[in-house]
Amino acid sequence: LVVLKDVQKHFGQLHALKDIDLTVTRGEVVVVIGPSGSGKSTLCRTINRLETIDSGTIMLDGQPLPEEGKELAALRAEVGMVFQSFNLFAHKTILENVTLGPIKVRGMKKADADKRAMELLERVGIAHQAEKYAAQLSGGQQQRVAIARALAMDPKVMLFDEPTSALDPEMIKEVLDVMVDLAEQGMTMVVVTHEMGFARTAADRVVFMADGAIVEENTPEEFFTNPSSDRAKDFLGKIL
Ligand code: ATP
Ligand code: MG
Repeated sequence: LVVLKDVQKHFGQLHALKDIDLTVTRGEVVVVIGPSGSGKSTLCRTINRLETIDSGTIMLDGQPLPEEGKELAALRAEVGMVFQSFNLFAHKTILENVTLGPIKVRGMKKADADKRAMELLERVGIAHQAEKYAAQLSGGQQQRVAIARALAMDPKVMLFDEPTSALDPEMIKEVLDVMVDLAEQGMTMVVVTHEMGFARTAADRVVFMADGAIVEENTPEEFFTNPSSDRAKDFLGKIL
């Protein structure tokens, strides 16, 4: 579903992505881990073209990523993204936050968008707060709304960039539970996270990055019990 081939990206002198080859098949959950600055966020951002690439190709569902214009807007809708910071509109209600994209970008009727949004808010356990303003919710609740907002666009793939790292410990689980549900329902997901419990239970594959390159790719069992590279061993030694 998502195929990256020979992707290169520089920020000035810095070679931020080196020869990235990565294929994510439909329904697969890929967890990306690695030290700070290794290029995990940059990798995510290239997939919905928040970052351009220097060379190589990125295909989504058999099509190269569009460069600009309407096609690019459509792409952004097909690739749902959830960041560390939730980026909700604080002065809009939860329901409005979730229906904005479908109404503006998809041209959905308000009544249909509201109905769909309420189903999604139900799914992430926030339906009863739909009329509250975003700023009135806890971090964990806001992040679940951000997930519902991305899902409202019917994305082909969901990208998560450290979705729980800004949350208090007791709120991490409620967000991870929603993500595990999504994974079980067959959503294609690329997840940058330091939550190794999530990687072990939900990932089909772990991708380990260091210095802008993919150093190792394996099943979570194999990766956690028997990492093959010294970089991965060293990293796991520090975090586990
Ligand atoms: P972290 O775990 O800290 O989030 P990361 O693996 O997500 O790290 P990236 O944010 O992808 O790392 O950054 C990779 C490298 O590219 C870093 O050295 C970073 O400083 C650099 N970088 C990222 N974005 C930019 C930018 N817009 N301009 C210049 N350099 C950048
Ligand atoms: Mg990052």
